[in-house]
Amino acid sequence: MQLRLLLAALLICLASLSRAADITRPNIVIIFADDLGYGDLGCYGHPTIRTPNLDRMAAEGMRFTEFYSAAEVCTPSRAALLTGRYPIRSGMCHDQFRVLRSRSLGQLPDSEITLAEALKAKGYATGAIGKWHLGVPQFNPGGHPRKHGFDFYFGLPHSNDMDPTPVAPKGAGRLAEQRAEWWNAPLYRDDQIIERPADQTTLTRRYTDEAVEFIRSNKTKPFFLYFPHTFPHTPLFASKDFAGKSPRGIYGDVVEELDASVGKVLDTLRQEKLAENTLVFFTSDNGPWLIMNQQGGSAGLLREGKGSTWEGGMRVPGIAWWPGKIKPAVQRTLASTMDLFTTSLKLAGADVPGDRPIDGLDIRPLLFGTGTVTREAYFYYRGTRLMAARSGDFKAHYMTQSAYGQPKHEEHTPPLLFNLRLDPSETHNVATNNPAVLGQIAQAVEKHKAALQPAPSQLVEVQPVAEKK
Ligand code: MG
Repeated sequence: MQLRLLLAALLICLASLSRAADITRPNIVIIFADDLGYGDLGCYGHPTIRTPNLDRMAAEGMRFTEFYSAAEVCTPSRAALLTGRYPIRSGMCHDQFRVLRSRSLGQLPDSEITLAEALKAKGYATGAIGKWHLGVPQFNPGGHPRKHGFDFYFGLPHSNDMDPTPVAPKGAGRLAEQRAEWWNAPLYRDDQIIERPADQTTLTRRYTDEAVEFIRSNKTKPFFLYFPHTFPHTPLFASKDFAGKSPRGIYGDVVEELDASVGKVLDTLRQEKLAENTLVFFTSDNGPWLIMNQQGGSAGLLREGKGSTWEGGMRVPGIAWWPGKIKPAVQRTLASTMDLFTTSLKLAGADVPGDRPIDGLDIRPLLFGTGTVTREAYFYYRGTRLMAARSGDFKAHYMTQSAYGQPKHEEHTPPLLFNLRLDPSETHNVATNNPAVLGQIAQAVEKHKAALQPAPSQLVEVQPVAEKK
């Protein structure tokens, strides 16, 4: 009898020990929408797009009002999230090309340490599901997600519009009615192309199924799921259950399907009793693609959108969820996708690389309500150009350029200055009255530039198209 009691006590001890060990290495899930704007979710004020799952996630977790992607377009934004560094440091940006193209030979350099590599070294299972855009494996096998720390990959190597097929009627472009067969995007499972063209109407559903399967099959060890969705980047496609349902048209259909996908991921975590040991972060890679008209999203009250360094190009929704650890709150402190790198490493008990500049900060004090985070300045790059910088409430624009349609940037001396707390729409230039603020921001910019070593761009080289004989 005594032996049995002893055994039972020992088992309870072991169980709680293993739970304690788990808590030191929580699961990390990053859900990354593509071109979703600051104003596109119910919980960020959209009047007609219905997002009950994200709204609930925000109500149960922390909703950031000043969350930033680290770039104004896809490729650099993704590089920054996965490395914790401004993309100019990895060469994943370019003033003309801006993103990797469907025949690009460049890639996220092997010398970069990705979040997946760092977490894998700590025993994490790692999966990437969705749009990669950090290398095109067909033309450069080194650009595959599995060469950058991910055990598992399912998704498209680049944007869903990058391979238009010859059957696309002239002028149909991205704006006319969409048909799946006009786009030739390859769908990968690990190293193999399993479908081409990918049936884009089922992509969100299939990504979600894969994400649920990844969580279930890795539930006994810590995992990192990087879940960069293909949508709402155009061309827009929704599955049968969502198409034609949203009052906001096809854009709304697509966002509502993404919302349902988030709901499924969170439900799976709850069902598998993993919710209290998992940080889930939802955000977007850049602002809305406004030139897509009704097929592009909304930056809400922010100025401009994708492609520009006005607020609408880079300030995006940001929602953190971790039941029991993150208390319901609205967070008004500035934070960024690069912080997810540093914060995730800290949560996993991993070292933040010390041999290179890391721009992401540890935002655990914000998430857990234990303190503040001090950031001297935040820098807004368009390609390799530092266009603007923010410190505290103020943002100085040294250069501005509309997302599309303004061929050359305009320089500002003195810089334009906006108080983003008073004027989030950047409409009232207050440079004249605030020379001291301008001086302080200029100092931060000088310090940043003095220590900066830009890497050669990865976005230039492409595989030439073979000439027809
Ligand atoms: Mg994007």
